[in-house]
Amino acid sequence: MTIAALSDLRSARRLVIKVGSALLVERGAPRAQWLATLATEIAELRTHSEVIVVSSGAIALGAAKLGLTRGGRGSLADAQAAASVGQVGLARLWSDALGNHDITAAQMLVTLGDLEDRRRYLNASATLARLLEAGAVPVVNENDSVATEEIRFGDNDRLAARVAQAAGAEAVLLLSDVDGLYDRDPHEDGAVLVERVEGVTPEVIAMASGASSSGLGSGGMLAKLQAARIAERAGIALAILNGTRTSPISRALDSGTGTLFVPQSDASARKAWLGGRLAPAGVVTVDQGCMTALENGASVLAAGITAIEGTFARGDLVAIHGPGGERLGQGLVEYTSAECSAILGLREEQQSEKLGYAPRAAVIHRDHMVHA
Ligand code: GLU
Repeated sequence: MTIAALSDLRSARRLVIKVGSALLVERGAPRAQWLATLATEIAELRTHSEVIVVSSGAIALGAAKLGLTRGGRGSLADAQAAASVGQVGLARLWSDALGNHDITAAQMLVTLGDLEDRRRYLNASATLARLLEAGAVPVVNENDSVATEEIRFGDNDRLAARVAQAAGAEAVLLLSDVDGLYDRDPHEDGAVLVERVEGVTPEVIAMASGASSSGLGSGGMLAKLQAARIAERAGIALAILNGTRTSPISRALDSGTGTLFVPQSDASARKAWLGGRLAPAGVVTVDQGCMTALENGASVLAAGITAIEGTFARGDLVAIHGPGGERLGQGLVEYTSAECSAILGLREEQQSEKLGYAPRAAVIHRDHMVHA
């Protein structure tokens, strides 16, 4: 189905609902009544859709319990300790709220690596699929208590887009404490809510430079736009809706208030995952001839490579740069960085000698590559 307007979101076959900390936690206490109205909406949606929840709130709940300052976000250690304590309560909240509708909640804690490493990504996908098939509602959060700075998502907006990809969802609803994306800082006179975005362009990103966060969560509008970018490339619709008041989903969809990001691709799940992945392990720089060939859909061959940066293993994601350093795309590399260095610039028949075995068809195959 195509999702072209907010009201179409209701008919998504599988959707991810992301709930921000500011909605779920107020002055350290859960907003249980509000959550009960959301659980009722989820129960209604489940009559025709599969639902996955991505819920923040662990840090905010735990910080209150432990009496930590700055909502538990004063240091990484504080956030991790707060999350450990708060996650227990968060899981119970969801289990109770959904349990009132005879829905089984399932807790899934993931790190960036679980959704970026090819093997672990496939594991997470399989678990999500099985849970949905078994009739449970997965409630996902970042595994904050073990993830270090470098391997954290940091905000659940991007996590929600990643989970949607891994689950093959059609739509993501980011429930936030703002109505959506405004064309400028929403505090400025004349700021207008943008109802529909066709592609997160630099102009769209410029709209979000103004402040939009409540201070409890870590998201903010820029994180939401990053999430929208991951989603649009994956062929997934994403909406930012104001979830502050009771029955937030019907309220937003009935009044048509929110911002819908329309999918920009129908890329296969695998390609989408490659495009959304955050941190390439290295860079492969190619010459003019190879760049032109890439534009016509070719693979990256060793003969066209002029330089290698970084240390990477076979199967890692690497960025592809043109002769002027311009980013052309990224893809999964077929060789280690040492092997790449040994064969760069060489034609196929010259490679066997260096490698000691028959070369692969390409250094980065076009099937495992996305263009920038
Ligand atoms: N995972 C964090 C929590 O549960 C929230 C991250 C965010 O603010 O988006 O508290």
